[in-house]
Amino acid sequence: MDIVEGIKQITTVLNDYLKPFGLVAEMDYEFAYYWESDLITFSLLDIPEASNLFLLDAESRFPQIKAPFFIWALHHEIGHNCTYDDLSEEEIAESYAIKNKILETEEHSDNDKMLYYTCPDEYAATDWAGNYIMTHQERIAKMWNVVSDIIRQLKESYDDEERS
Ligand SMILES: [Zn+2]
Repeated sequence: MDIVEGIKQITTVLNDYLKPFGLVAEMDYEFAYYWESDLITFSLLDIPEASNLFLLDAESRFPQIKAPFFIWALHHEIGHNCTYDDLSEEEIAESYAIKNKILETEEHSDNDKMLYYTCPDEYAATDWAGNYIMTHQERIAKMWNVVSDIIRQLKESYDDEERS
């Protein structure tokens, strides 16, 4: 499958999935939420260094959920959108303070990095994600069946090209 066509198809499926939240999807290098444009960026890159600690935090809080990184990350970003208005000014200030402290530290141990997930905004986003994933399994499976199949086809065409 052509990479541009594959990304176009995934974006269409995700836009449809995000419509009830008033959000739009766009591919980028990483998952992120941009509140000013109601945009969620997704990534097809698989970088364990970036996803391992996030998954460690999410799975320790929701051990009953067996979901791929893509699903956890996508719903964490939707969670930012759905929980931001519930955060108090103190919680937002605390989130900034922790994130700034992490940014200022030069050497990061995994423990330092795990601090990130204790930020009230990050904690709330993953909390929202876990609850949504548990209660909307059918809706998620319908979307993920299509998206994961496109990803599989993209990987196959890539592997074929590598070999030839
Ligand atoms: Zn986040």
